[in-house]
Amino acid sequence: MELTGLSFIGSHRGSRDGSSFQAFAPQTGEPIQPVFRSATSQELERAARLAHEAFASYAQTTGTTRAAFLRRIAEGFESHREELAQRAHLETALPLPRLTGEVTRTANQLRMFAAVVEEGSWVQARIDPALPDRQPLPRPDIRSMLRPLGPVVVFGASNFPLAFSVGGGDTASALAAGCPVIVKAHPAHPGTSELAAAIISEAVIARDLHPGVFSMLFDSGVAIGSALVQHPLIRAVAFTGSLRGGRALMDLAAARPDPIPCFTEMSSGNPVFILPGALRKGPAALAQSLFGSFTLGAGQFCTKPGIIFVAEAPQSLAFRDELKSFVEQAHPFTLLTGGIAREYHRATGSRANQVSLTAEAHLLSEGENGTEPFHAQAKLFTIALDELLRQPDLADEIFGPDTLIVRCGSTQDYLQAARALDGHLTATILGDEEDLAANRELIHILEQKAGRLIFNGFPTGVEVTHAMVHGGPYPSTSDPRFTSVGSLAIYRFARPVCFQNFPQPMLPPELQDENPLNISRLRDGKRE
Ligand code: NAP
Repeated sequence: MELTGLSFIGSHRGSRDGSSFQAFAPQTGEPIQPVFRSATSQELERAARLAHEAFASYAQTTGTTRAAFLRRIAEGFESHREELAQRAHLETALPLPRLTGEVTRTANQLRMFAAVVEEGSWVQARIDPALPDRQPLPRPDIRSMLRPLGPVVVFGASNFPLAFSVGGGDTASALAAGCPVIVKAHPAHPGTSELAAAIISEAVIARDLHPGVFSMLFDSGVAIGSALVQHPLIRAVAFTGSLRGGRALMDLAAARPDPIPCFTEMSSGNPVFILPGALRKGPAALAQSLFGSFTLGAGQFCTKPGIIFVAEAPQSLAFRDELKSFVEQAHPFTLLTGGIAREYHRATGSRANQVSLTAEAHLLSEGENGTEPFHAQAKLFTIALDELLRQPDLADEIFGPDTLIVRCGSTQDYLQAARALDGHLTATILGDEEDLAANRELIHILEQKAGRLIFNGFPTGVEVTHAMVHGGPYPSTSDPRFTSVGSLAIYRFARPVCFQNFPQPMLPPELQDENPLNISRLRDGKRE
């Protein structure tokens, strides 16, 4: 597929009128061909109008039609696996095997949502039949189900150029729900974005859908993204990225004359609590696994374990020494973008300055320093719990290969530490089953703080399944009621609509008496 550098406005391509930009190879910092063009405000307007028009027909498509569309996209991803992975490798420096695996993950996500909408029960149909003889007043016939929200804007994330980008989970779940999608491509991997958009556009044509079902706009700055969130025809937003960016979009969405839902996944320290059973199994193995987890993908995972609570004990000293030595031996990591590298240096530098003011906290060790512009050193910080409670911003998420060990007097201190946490995507407990049983209160507190509680595992690695929750209280996300990974993610893009006293033929099939789609429903409060 030849790259043109132009946006996708429904079935047409954007112009060359907008400002130009290029991707940069993280390995060298050199620009990569071709030149990409930012979308113009006229193109944005056209994409929004097309999406609005498409919604009229796309919202009415059956689950079978949408499933065939999603499967066609999945096939497209798989048949361009090598090309997608090679371009993503060039633009992100992520390892090729990881990227070919990400193509599979992306295709599987699309197929999971295809199966969900084909089966059909996700719409949560409820039927409360009329009670004409009810006294003192008859009850009307009341039926409800979930219906799609309307055009959704998706912001591609930098750290998963396929699975959380143009054809990733946000797009898949919005399309599955019946919402047209306009993607704001991430400028760090525009070539990968163009390839993915071409695959989705081909599927729109192949399945004979309205061309406005999918558009993708390029921009190297924030103008197009901001304008999309504010556009009156847009009905919801999905974003994965920084707290600063996500918060700005939340505020824009809330400040509209008609505020819209804005689902942002932003910042998470993913606390880990080490209980005695984990140390008894061997401090070296524990240190190795934690090192592997916080440096996976150069630490550029939203689920990176960034805060590790350890109670003082001889084995915890051994654990700290082991982790220190893993970090010291670490080769330089290559980060995704110049911006992420600069932010990593700034944030770790600022943490180092802040902690060097006190003997209670310091930089314990750092890895080999790199010479390339996007290079980053692994860093291990340590701090006493009391000091962290005095300066809680020291535990703010840093995106990259660093982590913070928090020294606690005893495991009793974990309760105070857990209560002081803000919202996170995950919270992990390492120990044995006896530890777990002895720490019910800790579990109870962590349940208030995170969307996913993990026992004896590591938070990096988010399975795409029906039960997965990749969400949590602010600031990890904007809305703790939802997840952005797994089939429950579809519920972000639908709202309940009630039909009162409608004649049978005028009801959606999901709500008709004979249940032609044979879906699971609630009739008078009972499952049928
Ligand atoms: P980002 O700066 O938040 O940007 C993500 C996307 O949102 C980009 O397309 C960006 O556009 C756009 N954007 C950002 N601020 C905006 C605003 N005020 N108005 C409109 N659009 C806006 O994320 P990033 O580029 O990945 O930067 C890296 C930082 O994000 C990391 O340091 C890390 O903290 C965080 N991050 C977190 C996660 C996570 O999973 N929680 C994942 C990835 C990154 P432009 O790039 O064109 O400006």
